Amino acid sequence: MGTIICQICDKTIEHFENEKVSTLYGKCTCCDEEQKKTFK
Ligand SMILES: [Zn+2]
Repeated sequence: MGTIICQICDKTIEHFENEKVSTLYGKCTCCDEEQKKTFK
């Protein structure tokens, strides 16, 4: 099983089906919103 983890707050965003155990980094919705505010 694969996991997507937020690279900013380390929260697990999503699990996905995968033969191997793997971790991907992304951004959760709350951190995405925070960044939108910052870049305004
Ligand atoms: Zn986050």
